Amino acid sequence: MPCPGCQRVADHSSRFRIAALREAVVYLHSHQFWPGWCVLWLKDHAEHLDAMPVERQLDLWRDVGDVARAVRAVSGCSRINYENLGNVVNHIHWHVVPRFAAPREPDPAAPVWVRPKSELESGVTDLERDRLVAAIRSALRA
Ligand SMILES: [Zn+2]
Repeated sequence: MPCPGCQRVADHSSRFRIAALREAVVYLHSHQFWPGWCVLWLKDHAEHLDAMPVERQLDLWRDVGDVARAVRAVSGCSRINYENLGNVVNHIHWHVVPRFAAPREPDPAAPVWVRPKSELESGVTDLERDRLVAAIRSALRA
């Protein structure tokens, strides 16, 4: 079975592809319950962050920081959650999730993964997704 991460990186036609950065390609995540949720996929297939040369780890972290700054500027969130799990898709990727204070959020202290799938998959319209992609892309260039 092909790697979903490698497929994602190779998909240049996705309307949710925001930008190619130093080490990663960033997409607006399919789950937009938290508007602005992005995922950075390492450009090449690797499964263990610790096995990468430290210079590449640092450049990947710079990419994550750049995306977090852009997401904060666009979303007006109060916090960013950074998640590098690899439990479902082994290809190295980082979730950058904007979080908001109560009452905007049902459970601001909990990680996003505890929320019901139906809630994760709810959120903004396709038009709003397009607006978020353009705004985050613009903020990354600023
Ligand atoms: Zn891969």
